[in-house]
Amino acid sequence: MGTLVEIAAYPDTNRVRTAVAEAYERMEAIEAATDHREEDSVLAALRRGERVTLSGDLRAAFASAMMIARESSGAFDPTMGKVVSLWGFDMDTPRLPLEQELRNSLKTVGFEKVTLAGSIIKADSPVWLDLGGVAKGYAVDEAVKVLKEQGASAGIVNAGGDLKAFGKKPGGKRWRIGVQAPDDHQELAGVLEITNGAVATSGDYERYFETGGKRYHHILDPGTGYPARSGLRSVTIVAFDCLLADALSTAIFVMGPEKGLELLKGRDGVHAVLVLETGEVLTTGGVGSEVGFERR
Ligand code: ADP
Ligand code: MG
Repeated sequence: MGTLVEIAAYPDTNRVRTAVAEAYERMEAIEAATDHREEDSVLAALRRGERVTLSGDLRAAFASAMMIARESSGAFDPTMGKVVSLWGFDMDTPRLPLEQELRNSLKTVGFEKVTLAGSIIKADSPVWLDLGGVAKGYAVDEAVKVLKEQGASAGIVNAGGDLKAFGKKPGGKRWRIGVQAPDDHQELAGVLEITNGAVATSGDYERYFETGGKRYHHILDPGTGYPARSGLRSVTIVAFDCLLADALSTAIFVMGPEKGLELLKGRDGVHAVLVLETGEVLTTGGVGSEVGFERR
């Protein structure tokens, strides 16, 4: 998933140490199942137009991605695979596509053209799935399940800033999670404090390249195929599940602050910290009360 994963769990017993090893294995299995780069992967077969049956993990990640796609009216869209690979963000070889290439690849985009029937994906033309917007969150949630099932009383699974924490640390302190400032890895925009829950961030500074004096980042607007410019530098979501936090952060990055905050209305336990292009930091109502937050 292109990131470093850290797991910590309590208490320090042999059983919990084994659980940590199993949690890493679980994440590796999910990474393999949701991969689209290998030619012998299920997702590669799908984009060749073959009929494929999804494994349990692939089905779960895909179904959740489709739910967020519907709720965000397609700002989040898991069928962006061809466009993502054209930009090369999935291969660490990013480049600026030609407009004609982009127009052609955009024809393959559209979550509403795809349906899930049992474990079979149905569509009239080849489907280029990219689950990069949910896979990390899903893997984090599943790793936490393994830790809990194997007797951990507290712990954290952190996949490069997308994380889920549970239980009380020794000393009873809450988990403190830094929200990065967009332009300086050493600086924080603020610090969140949570007990049980997940945090995920989508930012334009995470993966990008520069050419012709312009910056191009990896969160793409499904309407245009170009990096989303909605007035935001980053979106951090707090939710109970990391999958939801992961997908919502990407969706809201694309939608921008106004529509994005609208999408969060009525969602209990979901909170947001938005860093705008102006440098302003916006937070939803529960930030500072339901979850702790210190501005920096
Ligand atoms: P990161 O992977 O850096 O945490 P995100 O969680 O925001 O970032 O996910 C971005 C990834 O999701 C991209 O690398 C790409 O694979 C995919 N993606 C990009 N734009 C969209 C979009 N509009 N909808 C769904 N997935 C997207
Ligand atoms: Mg995300």
